[in-house]
Amino acid sequence: EPTVSTYVYAFSQGNKDLKDLLGGKGANLAEMTNLGLPVPPGFTITTEACRAYLAEGDEPVEMASEIDAHLAELERVMGRRLGDAEDPLLVSVRSGAKFSMPGMMETVLNIGLNDTSVLGLAKQSGDERFAYDSYRRLLQMFGSTVLGLEHDIFSDALDALKERRGTTDDLGLVPNDLRELVTTFQGLIREHTGRDFPQDPTEQLRLSVLAVFQSWNTDRASVYRRQEGIPEDLGTAVNVQVMVFGNQGMTSGSGVCFTRDPGTGRQGVYGDYLQNAQGEDVVAGIRNTISLADLADLDRTSYDELLGNMRSLERHYRDLCDIEFTIERGKLWMLQTRVGKRTAEAAFRIASSMLDEGLIDADEALGRVNGAQLAQLLFPSFDPEAERQLIATGMNASPGAAVGRVVFDSATAVEWAERGESVILVRKETNPDDLRGMVAATGILTSRGGKTSHAAVVARGMGRTCVCGAEAILVDTAARSMTVRDGVTVAEGDVISLDGTTGQVFLGAVPVAASQVVRHLEGEETDNDLVPAVARLLEHADAVRRLAVRANADTPDDAARARQFGAQGIGLCRTEHMFLGDRRILVEHLILAEDEAGREAALAELFPLQRQDFVEILRAMDGLPVTIRLIDPPLHEFLPDLTDLSVEVALEDERGPEVERHHRLLEAVRRLHEQNPMMGLRGVRLGIAIPGLFQMQARAIIEAAADLIEEGGNPCPEIMVPLVASDRELSWVREALVDVASDVQKERGVAVPHKIGTMIELPRAAVTADRIAESAEFFSFGTNDLTQMTWGFSRDDVEAEFFPTYLEDRIFPASPFETIDVEGVGALMRTAVRLGREARPDIHLGVCGEHGGDPASIHFFDELGLDYVSCSPFRVPVARLEAGRSTL
Ligand code: PEP
Ligand code: MG
Repeated sequence: EPTVSTYVYAFSQGNKDLKDLLGGKGANLAEMTNLGLPVPPGFTITTEACRAYLAEGDEPVEMASEIDAHLAELERVMGRRLGDAEDPLLVSVRSGAKFSMPGMMETVLNIGLNDTSVLGLAKQSGDERFAYDSYRRLLQMFGSTVLGLEHDIFSDALDALKERRGTTDDLGLVPNDLRELVTTFQGLIREHTGRDFPQDPTEQLRLSVLAVFQSWNTDRASVYRRQEGIPEDLGTAVNVQVMVFGNQGMTSGSGVCFTRDPGTGRQGVYGDYLQNAQGEDVVAGIRNTISLADLADLDRTSYDELLGNMRSLERHYRDLCDIEFTIERGKLWMLQTRVGKRTAEAAFRIASSMLDEGLIDADEALGRVNGAQLAQLLFPSFDPEAERQLIATGMNASPGAAVGRVVFDSATAVEWAERGESVILVRKETNPDDLRGMVAATGILTSRGGKTSHAAVVARGMGRTCVCGAEAILVDTAARSMTVRDGVTVAEGDVISLDGTTGQVFLGAVPVAASQVVRHLEGEETDNDLVPAVARLLEHADAVRRLAVRANADTPDDAARARQFGAQGIGLCRTEHMFLGDRRILVEHLILAEDEAGREAALAELFPLQRQDFVEILRAMDGLPVTIRLIDPPLHEFLPDLTDLSVEVALEDERGPEVERHHRLLEAVRRLHEQNPMMGLRGVRLGIAIPGLFQMQARAIIEAAADLIEEGGNPCPEIMVPLVASDRELSWVREALVDVASDVQKERGVAVPHKIGTMIELPRAAVTADRIAESAEFFSFGTNDLTQMTWGFSRDDVEAEFFPTYLEDRIFPASPFETIDVEGVGALMRTAVRLGREARPDIHLGVCGEHGGDPASIHFFDELGLDYVSCSPFRVPVARLEAGRSTL
């Protein structure tokens, strides 16, 4: 055998671990060869050769001679010569990159046929039809792949001939027809390229190899790589393999099969077979295939051998394998195998049953599934078979499937939901005032805003399906209707369906199925065998993970659900969400208060409500930590819109009952108006600017905890100060909080264990974390704001505006609001972790931004050594799984 070189490997020289060099197909052909399976012999030209060719624009010098040497060896083994006039050896040339790119690159079959060797093939096989059918296929593939003719030029000519012969099936053509087709195809090649089809077999081979190299750079291949995140510079390998023929009559055929069902993961015999056909025909759907099970009746011997091979491949790869095979006159050949793609459902079933079968251990089983797959199983989904009419596409902000009647304002959403309707709230964008409507709705659709817009964050938190930034939709709130660009108008009360997983919006009701896994987590009995598979892998993740997982939850219901989903506490309770709805007016009183007495009265109104909120949440999470964040957003969010109010006041009768209040309100709105509210009076700044506000909240928290302790409970509140930039802000606030806490404990005569800490969500806080740690028992990274403030990107605007371009042009690998930007924001976090621990070695560290539920980010947080991640309740199982996977 020729010695191993950089550019060419015989199948017997490779193995499955050489995918970088031999590509997936080549590495697996080598592995099957070495397993002793019936693989037609051949060799692989390496990705290294491809890279050299693409870089230099010319083949590397040694490549040609190495190919010659491997070809000579192949001819020796087979006892035939490539393109020999009497008894030609024919080969196939197929691409095979490291990562499978189905249908993206090229294949040329039957290389070695020409006007002379086709006669030899006809004589040797005793089948003239087969010989000419093979030749016309070579002309067709060579013509389009190597010479760049349109595919249609050939298929049109084939169709025209079939029509003339009155048949719709390739098999309806007789040898003479195929001979005629060969002449037609040769003519087409001459006409379109000005040259003849090359008769020299080695030139056919060489040109085909180079064409496969070049196909790495086609548009479609590059688009596919961008979508799948496959690096641009890998190049493809090329496999040259002795042809075996599935098109030698009815005892021949080609097929594909899977060792388990890639759709469900269940065991069984899955595959398709096509008699008298080459591999391409099976996938192209030219004729109807039969199921693999039916092959047993046609050719029992080949069928049994194939099943045996499937079993050995699955045992060897210890995973689902996807296989291509050909039967040539009753002889089975294995043409390809690889670890097969599968649905989320199949991934869990396969991992769990292979664990049962002892093929893999629990860690490997956990490595076979991922958070994105689990997330898919947690949301209801549309019946894939159902018909649907797509009317718009936006961002897939919160997954799931929602069907309901369209409403355009929060009040109507609440009203209709109360009478039992399922509603979809449609808004240009949402603001905190829409919260009641969002709670009432099953789905939320906005025409503006990105994945961290208010609508998206809140929807994910509540597990509501949400599509945001669907810009083709024009919302006319006044007319209570929306128009889609191509003219469809949807009025209030019309039914639409939202797919939050894909961002698609459909007219009418698409049928939905609930998630079995969620029903199980919520304590319902289900007999779906997927449920135990998911449960045991989650259990294993829990057993191995270091990171704790908490939930972001603001209501007792969310807290209870989070607990069912396995949350180990609440990492973020946003108290501003408790100030909305009916209570908004109380906040308005606070803002409009003209003196200390007025302010105190307003706070006194809010206090009992807050205390009750905290009693309920702490009770729902009894025994587990609950991080309560003091109020954060700018005050103007609690006031009417400046323009709307101005108009209202201008139109109002001067003697109207509300006129005085409206004037004061307008004045307050003007006074509080900010150009950049996200960088304005919010968070700790608010707590310092409005005396008594944070103290009121702290008192409500400590009193609530005292109530529960008296009931015999075990509340574990943690008070968290938002948007701190300087240690002086935090020490100021901390002193006030400590005073309140000790007052309450004295008054009540009970010790209330609690912690005081801060969010780290400003770059300044991160780089001065040692000073800040002096007043903080814990840090929770607010990565939403930290990303916003580090990049200078408005989290409410930029995702819809220029992020698509940034992602398209690969300036971002992923949106930094979804997956943590390790280099920038991550570096700040690393600094803060180091400084924080230096100043206070036992400081407790967590993250509560949206990234807390993102798989890639979770792995980074584990590496940083944080103690926990906190995410929306519906992501808790995903975070548990990924925190487990990150230890593998
Ligand atoms: C954050 O900024 O990451 C955070 C959790 O706070 P919010 O999203 O409420 O600003
Ligand atoms: Mg924040």
